[in-house]
Amino acid sequence: RSWVESRLSQELLRAVERAGYKTPSPIQMAAIPLGLQQRDVIGIAETGSGKTAAFVLPMLTYISRLPPMSEDNDAEGPYAVVMAPTRELAQQIEDETVKFAHYLGIKVVSIVGGQSIEEQGFKIRQGCEVVIATPGRLIDCLERRYAVLNQCNYVVLDEADRMIDMGFEPQVVGVLDAMPSSNIKPESEDEELDDKRFTDNLYVQCFNATGC
Ligand code: AMP
Repeated sequence: RSWVESRLSQELLRAVERAGYKTPSPIQMAAIPLGLQQRDVIGIAETGSGKTAAFVLPMLTYISRLPPMSEDNDAEGPYAVVMAPTRELAQQIEDETVKFAHYLGIKVVSIVGGQSIEEQGFKIRQGCEVVIATPGRLIDCLERRYAVLNQCNYVVLDEADRMIDMGFEPQVVGVLDAMPSSNIKPESEDEELDDKRFTDNLYVQCFNATGC
């Protein structure tokens, strides 16, 4: 199978070519077509398998259909959030995302511990479509109102299994709760939340290293 069959846009196909990726890896062949249909995806693939591009390329396709975030200080970004358990992994995801996002004019900000939170908040407020974050730091940014997720309906949990093992479940759930689709509440207590309505509004891509 080839990249041309993947149904990525011409722009992204050119970016993939420039990155030197000759053929899609197995996880990319499996996950990209599903991601492009905006289906929720659970992927199982190890580091080194090309799993990052497998979720980054559909995410950038989704964002490329939305208006760019303005660069004024009231920007209400991001449109998509990627969470990862460690700073190092977040950094690798940022590198891989910027490689393609650059060609589409999509702005990416990473927010991880150990760096100035004020500076990270400032970058988000200047306008960005993608935030790549460790869960604890993202919660801090949300609590300080440095970031809002009013427009964020797309989330990737990279190494979700490791995030849970490391005890980040409350923070991950806290971030999901800050997204608009989580705020669709049944109107009365008798009425059950329509699952389809929920998942139609939030696209979840969950990638595990070791299994679910
Ligand atoms: P990952 O598993 O996402 O950490 O990717 C491992 C490495 O493979 C990274 O350096 C990527 O830039 C590279 N890579 C990802 N997809 C491909 C591909 N289809 N062809 C060649 N290299 C790739």
